[in-house]
Amino acid sequence: MNNLSSPSQQYLNLPNQFYSHVTPTPLIQPQLLHLNTATANLINFDHSDDTNKQVLDHLCGNTLPNHIQPIAMVYAGHQFGHYVPQLGDGRAMLLGGVAHEGKYWELQLKGAGPTPYSRNSDGRAVLRSSIREYLCSAAMHGLGIPTTHALSLVGSSQPVYRETVETAAVVMRVAPSFIRFGSFEYFFYRGQADAVRTLADHVIQHHYPELEQQTNKYPAFLQQVVISTAKLMAHWQAVGFAHGVMNTDNMSILGLTLDYGPFGFLDEYNPGYICNHTDQTGRYAFDQQPDIGAWNLTRLAQALTPLMSMEEAKTALAIYPAHFASHYINLMCAKLGVAADKSAVPVIMQLLHIMQANHIDYTLFMRQLAHFNSATDALNAPLRDLFIDRDAFELWAHQYRALLQAQHSIDSIRAEQMNRVNPKYILRNYLAENAIVAARDHDDTSEIDKLMTLLQSPYDEHPEFEAYAAMPPDWAKHISVSCSS
Ligand code: AMP
Ligand code: MG
Repeated sequence: MNNLSSPSQQYLNLPNQFYSHVTPTPLIQPQLLHLNTATANLINFDHSDDTNKQVLDHLCGNTLPNHIQPIAMVYAGHQFGHYVPQLGDGRAMLLGGVAHEGKYWELQLKGAGPTPYSRNSDGRAVLRSSIREYLCSAAMHGLGIPTTHALSLVGSSQPVYRETVETAAVVMRVAPSFIRFGSFEYFFYRGQADAVRTLADHVIQHHYPELEQQTNKYPAFLQQVVISTAKLMAHWQAVGFAHGVMNTDNMSILGLTLDYGPFGFLDEYNPGYICNHTDQTGRYAFDQQPDIGAWNLTRLAQALTPLMSMEEAKTALAIYPAHFASHYINLMCAKLGVAADKSAVPVIMQLLHIMQANHIDYTLFMRQLAHFNSATDALNAPLRDLFIDRDAFELWAHQYRALLQAQHSIDSIRAEQMNRVNPKYILRNYLAENAIVAARDHDDTSEIDKLMTLLQSPYDEHPEFEAYAAMPPDWAKHISVSCSS
């Protein structure tokens, strides 16, 4: 790696009970399908010569600089509510870290072959799921939502066997840390309290250094994770993102969106939306996410009990609902272009209610709401006509207008503010699907390229790509995304 030479290793400095050394398995006929130059700049990765064979080999793990010793991180986790004592990076390999402009980033290959934690799987990732992870990391970052980043997408002719034969791909992921709630659970359930402490100290030292001097640093650390998770859940709910597999092994200790699998963005506003078709009970349905966030934090708190009293753990957890609510209300008020105030809550709730009842496209409507005219009803006909129940819209519009007037809101200023928080472009499943089909079946990465442009600046107008902001086509309703990846 052209700049992975700095000695500022973090996770790799932990004792070896936290990982296993691994070696990437070479990929047949690797091909660089895309490189995210914004991510490259974050880590000062020299991308001026992305046709260089050595760069390509490094990006998929076919060769690595001598000093790099890849490892797979060990963790456990609650999957669909059940504790699984041994998980770990089954197909991810941590290469080490780089420091750039005062920030520290760890680099991970995903899909570079089996590890001791692969549980009889191949350690590979199919091109389809790799494209989705690559695009969605950029989309979330573009939306301003905490996430891991993706540097590169390398395709290959390597066959992988899922429901059908597909080809393998490798994504290079970048994040300050890939430590999960499940990393703590692994040691807690094995009775290794010392290791829980070592890991907590590690995370505090590198990611919450301001807590180091506190007498109660462990409860304070848990509180920080509670807050960052509450914020993340608020972001997901406000933007209409469903993760799909909120197991504790997929929960970042830094409150980042992590491990993109069968995720989905809402088309029409449907709180019960289940994006993962293997989630038969809807445990991870869209509207369950805030509660699941709390449930997962409780599992983390339990794993941290060797470091704090039960009272301290409970006190830290207790702040979650208020933090979630205040972040969510702030984000929703911004989406409606109103000042964050209790009086806005019924207006938000009523809007969500009528959107659900009328099957209104969430992203499209919120973007169009910037055009709401608070003086002349007749000018709101394009918004009203989206609703089957026009009276319901009128009634709501009346409430919204009253709120705007009470806040002395000015339409033109409000419109401009709303356009900065209501995305025009989101990664709808069908858009990802089109990019996958083009790349996989026609060797055409131009759709990936277009989507990257739109998703990296989703609040801007891109007049030449108006179609990408339209209602999803009918066939999109039948796309089903499986966990198989
Ligand atoms: P995920 O749902 O992708 O977060 O995966 C759950 C667990 O299964 C993680 O420990 C993964 O590393 C592992 N895993 C998933 N797919 C594979 C695969 N193809 N090969 C090896 N391990 C895998
Ligand atoms: Mg995972």
